[in-house]
Amino acid sequence: MPSIRWLTGFTGSSGFLLVEPGSATLITDFRYEAQASEEVCDGVSVAITATDLFAELARCLDEGASGPRVGFEDHVLTVKDRRALGESCGAVTWEAAGPLVDELRSTKDPGEIEAISRAVRMAESALSEVLGIVTEGMTETELAAELVYRLRRAGSETLPFDPIVASGPRSALPHAHPGERKLREGDFLLLDFGARVDGYCSDMTRTFVLGSAARWQREVHGVVAEAVERAIAAACAGATAQAVDRAARDVIVAAGYGDRFGHGTGHGVGLEVHERPSVNARSRETLASGNVVTIEPAVYLPGRGGVRLEEVVVAGEDGAAVLTGFPRDLREL
Ligand code: ZN
Ligand code: ZN
Repeated sequence: MPSIRWLTGFTGSSGFLLVEPGSATLITDFRYEAQASEEVCDGVSVAITATDLFAELARCLDEGASGPRVGFEDHVLTVKDRRALGESCGAVTWEAAGPLVDELRSTKDPGEIEAISRAVRMAESALSEVLGIVTEGMTETELAAELVYRLRRAGSETLPFDPIVASGPRSALPHAHPGERKLREGDFLLLDFGARVDGYCSDMTRTFVLGSAARWQREVHGVVAEAVERAIAAACAGATAQAVDRAARDVIVAAGYGDRFGHGTGHGVGLEVHERPSVNARSRETLASGNVVTIEPAVYLPGRGGVRLEEVVVAGEDGAAVLTGFPRDLREL
């Protein structure tokens, strides 16, 4: 429902938005009656049904002058719901409209950027607090719980995703779930997490070392930090997403770790933690002013550990503005 929220302000989890020339109708159910009329912006009317959303949609379509062709967001509609649309509104020609609204959402206005910035600052303050209590012997799960508590207490709405807390060799797993492993001296400690403000997400990653960093850890961290800097420098409006990805990847390839960085460099962030534009080697997108994307190159060494650093940046005509302020240099805990 993020596109419905973005278009209307409605934050409920059930409904259709019917957009016709000159009008828009939010169709939702009885549970959201009061909430919907409070939340929707001017120009959106609300239709409440106690029974069947599809039947209500058919009724609204019949009453309106929308014509026989209606586009729908095919990347979010389930096969089951698509079938129900056909059965309820038989006279309509349904056409897959693709991610039209997602494309509009990818360019953020100042209010949206401010919400994301607040979510970034919230995450950073939770990180600062949690670093003060990291100790050897603590499990990843315990540390994740401390982080979640501090994120929520700082004011984050529901979290954009479960934090990743990965220590030692487990830091080489790009999407590790916190486990029962106890933190040990000499471990890499990778934390990837975010906060949510007014629906907007932040997403950041830092990798630390418990105790003194070994030479190989400094080297790998240095390579990833350099890759971050190059990608940020490349992330201006008009640059292709592929060029931004390449800027980070070239540094990692040159250092001999090319095959140890197996995912894209970043993704858009907004009402969803992963949205357009994608910043990877296959992306066909070009950055536009106001796109908010992550830059998160990494090097993963199986059995030893990994480093990922993740920033949130806003693409602009004069280069990228970095929203994340937390220091990027290697910190020993
Ligand atoms: Zn992340
Ligand atoms: Zn991310």
